[in-house]
Amino acid sequence: MKIGYNGLFIPGPTNIPNQIRQAMSVPLEDIRAPDFADLTLPLFADLKKIFKTKNGQIFIFPSSGTGGWEAALQNTLSPGDKILSSSFGRFSVLWCRMCKDLGFDNTVIDVEWGRGVPIHEYERVLKNDKDKQIKAVLVCHNETTTGVKSDIGEVRRLLDQLDHPAMLYVDGISSIGSIEFDMDADGIDLAIAGSQKGFMMPTGLSIIAVSKKALEAIKTAKSSCSYFCFNDMINANKTGYFPYTPATTLLRGLRAAVDLLLEEGLENVFKRHHKLASGVRAAVKAWGMELCAQKPKWYSDTVSTIVMPQQYDANKVISNAYYRYHLSLGLGL
Ligand SMILES: *Cc1c(COP(=O)(O)O)cnc(C)c1O
Repeated sequence: MKIGYNGLFIPGPTNIPNQIRQAMSVPLEDIRAPDFADLTLPLFADLKKIFKTKNGQIFIFPSSGTGGWEAALQNTLSPGDKILSSSFGRFSVLWCRMCKDLGFDNTVIDVEWGRGVPIHEYERVLKNDKDKQIKAVLVCHNETTTGVKSDIGEVRRLLDQLDHPAMLYVDGISSIGSIEFDMDADGIDLAIAGSQKGFMMPTGLSIIAVSKKALEAIKTAKSSCSYFCFNDMINANKTGYFPYTPATTLLRGLRAAVDLLLEEGLENVFKRHHKLASGVRAAVKAWGMELCAQKPKWYSDTVSTIVMPQQYDANKVISNAYYRYHLSLGLGL
């Protein structure tokens, strides 16, 4: 029998700080209460600080992060629209698959796992796109399954250099709130986060920030959306309410999470993750093992993916850690 806490060292859900757990230990509340907006409007405003956007708009959907991917695509694109994306780990693969499932014309660059966004291939494809038909360029900022972080600024600079009007969509589910992320500086049009990773919460909220340009794109987008419709959210959120039952308990938790992040200061949060990750990386090196990330520029400060040497069984390591040390380590996906 296991006693005490089990240390969660899987990529997500992550450990929930006590302040956040306590903030969620509240009675359910009136979702149309006259003062409900006292909770929601400041929360939207403070989330913009976490995404680092002045003019972007925040959306909070009751779904896991995957729902955020779908909301971003369906609200801003039309069936058959051209997308450029890349796959270098389980999550980027799944996002590419979603683009196909939803009927977009997606060009996928397959990259060896352990490497990041293929900037040279992106350049080649975008240069060949003479009529500038590509509507969206997708990047998974922090590929959780391989522990690889990509440079979003690099992709922004490429689009600017080529004067390409495609919008930049970023999966920041395991980076926003924990490693350097700057929506406005990197000209990101749609940024997607999930509650159970950088926000230290239970699963259940996808949080999306949408640029002015992407908000404009809603007007001409012809893909269908209903539950994830941005326009319904925009109308209801104006006064601090939601088009359907908001997950009030999770919103209370999110409030506490945002407070924790802003109190510590984002720069300090990033430094803390960097310090801890550097320690983990030093240990991995001392053990004579290797990270999946092939170069330091791709090292993620939130997830270290360790390649198990051939002669060892990763499942045994994980089960030993679980039963002997009360540590949950993530399995390779
Ligand atoms: C966890 C994760 C997802 C999937 O999010 P869910 O909340 O499980 O739907 C997508 N992308 C990245 C980078 C992730 O880490």
